[in-house]
Amino acid sequence: MTNSRRSFFIQTLSCASALSALAVTTAAHAQTTVLGTDPQAVALGYSPDATKTDVKKYPNYSAGRSCDGCVLFQGKAGDSSGSCAVFGNKLVANKGWCSTWTKGVITSVRPFDVLARL
Ligand code: SF4
Repeated sequence: MTNSRRSFFIQTLSCASALSALAVTTAAHAQTTVLGTDPQAVALGYSPDATKTDVKKYPNYSAGRSCDGCVLFQGKAGDSSGSCAVFGNKLVANKGWCSTWTKGVITSVRPFDVLARL
């Protein structure tokens, strides 16, 4: 095996290990609810009630935008909450909002989709 092949093989194994660890970590947080007071929530301007968003601080918010219309929301139609990849798959309110809101609804997030957005 040449050095470049060995290096490629080692890097591939490292990436696979990292993705496995990410999957285990996100699964462990699956049922934890994000509070508006959580440090990451504060940093991203998350509120479980989108209508309470400070529009001066977050001008990208507009009425009608909420987690259930965000591409990263993993809840089903009618659910009051669903997991969010930005918060490590912790639960966010369907009527919540944060500054990373991105229009769209998908039914599943693959690890590479999440990594591509970071
Ligand atoms: Fe809600 Fe999207 Fe922000 Fe997650 S990324 S908290 S689903 S607005």
